[in-house]
Amino acid sequence: MQDVPAKLKSYQTYIDGAWCDAASGKTFQTFDPYTGDAWATIPECDAKDVDRACEAAWRAFDEGPWPAMMQTARGRMLRKIAGLIEKHAEHLARIEVRDNGKLISEMAAQLKYLPEWFYYYGGLADKIHGSVIPSDRPEHFTYTLKEPVGVCVFITPWNSPLMLVGWKLAPALAAGCTVVIKPSEYTSASLLEFMKLVIEEAGLPPGVVNVVTGYGAATGEPLVTHPKVAKVAFTGGTATGARVNELAAKTFKKVSLELGGKSPNVVFDDCIIDDAVSGAVSGIFAATGQTCIAGSRLLVQESIHDQFVEKLVAMAKTAKLAPQYQRILSYIEIAKGEGANCVLGGGAATKEDGGGKYFVKPTIFTGVDNGMRIAQEEVFGPVLSVIKFKDEEEAVAIANDIAYGLGAGVWTQSVRRATTVSKRIRAGTVWVNTYRAVSFLMPFGGYKASGLGRENGAEAIDSYLQTKSVWINNGPAGGNPFIMKTAS
Ligand code: NAD
Repeated sequence: MQDVPAKLKSYQTYIDGAWCDAASGKTFQTFDPYTGDAWATIPECDAKDVDRACEAAWRAFDEGPWPAMMQTARGRMLRKIAGLIEKHAEHLARIEVRDNGKLISEMAAQLKYLPEWFYYYGGLADKIHGSVIPSDRPEHFTYTLKEPVGVCVFITPWNSPLMLVGWKLAPALAAGCTVVIKPSEYTSASLLEFMKLVIEEAGLPPGVVNVVTGYGAATGEPLVTHPKVAKVAFTGGTATGARVNELAAKTFKKVSLELGGKSPNVVFDDCIIDDAVSGAVSGIFAATGQTCIAGSRLLVQESIHDQFVEKLVAMAKTAKLAPQYQRILSYIEIAKGEGANCVLGGGAATKEDGGGKYFVKPTIFTGVDNGMRIAQEEVFGPVLSVIKFKDEEEAVAIANDIAYGLGAGVWTQSVRRATTVSKRIRAGTVWVNTYRAVSFLMPFGGYKASGLGRENGAEAIDSYLQTKSVWINNGPAGGNPFIMKTAS
């Protein structure tokens, strides 16, 4: 065990229905980005703990009561989980803020909404079914079954810890899968509290949901390569997602990836300007830019550009500050070096600015060319690049000239423009005259380097299921055993 000051809270992790330390006894510290101080210790799991968790999840799947439970009963259990999240939402949100430094209003809103995922997929649990398929040969009865894929691994980022676990957990449990979760090493505490207050309290059988806390390479990679794991659901950066995909391919695991973005927010001159200014601010500064769907490329039509930027800067000045420090500061320097014009912020925030230890000022660059690094790479902070365009053709071309395709915004009063531009932008979600709306009902995911597969909506449950075809011959057996049975 490492030496830690006695005042730090000490968490254990949760494997096979029991609280435990890492097998090695090692821990790491978790920090409050506002004060810069450590506030708790977390078990530093490695391959040994991963193996124990995956074996427990496999036993719970193979011989445990979870997949064998009547689907209606599983649905009821999901609704119980929803009720417990409702009860503890405020507490869980406060723990999240302590680790990720975001606004309590942002995290509380996420936690308050999260129960809906468990109510929704709880309702779907007993609507999962195969179908009877007409046979093209006499006396055969043919049908399909929808079965859970097995043990699923979730690997999640630091920005919205419990929400992104919930988006995976609700459909996976409804499908009858068992789960091992690795949260971000920066934000493990809220998941451990969730396990105690929600999962344990709900009475899920041991091994159905397990947690291994730790670092990417030492904990994440053994999970992705573990032989008992059937599916990996990953949310995080694009480079990490590519590594996860490559490792998972070796053992043919099913993979879903929710990755980074550099989303265009396109403002046409026929929009309602005040709404669009507010949408542009909310797109980049509402979650301190630390959301995969941040509208970090603001495309503004030439004819309203100057007037728009003036209003934008005035409103953005009122935004709250963001942590994640070094990486964001280095991008600000890159943008200055590329010749972009900094019209707001542009550096670290001091205590007088209202910042904590690791905080950056909301920053806006104008005169950005879409080829610059500040326009092409994900900063994951409160840094907005404003890019001018002349007409619809150029707006669509710039919007699509990017490796990513997660989200996009369109601001216009023209119905023709709203529908045609939405169709032409290559992104998993397009918002018209709004931004950053998500729902358990609407599929969410990325085109291009922003990911594989979809979360949310009824179709998300399919990624936790596989189809079995059953053939029953009610007639005489026989025929030539050396020839494939086809319809005659
Ligand atoms: P990250 O990729 O650094 O880490 C994500 C998770 O992967 C962490 O748990 C980390 O420990 C783990 N990890 C790191 N290396 C690994 C490896 N080799 N094998 C297995 N696991 C490994 O991302 P982050 O900085 O925590 O989060 C920010 C990123 O997440 C941004 O790019 C953001 O756009 C993206 N994101 C995407 C979505 C979405 O839904 N598309 C949502 C939120 C965040």
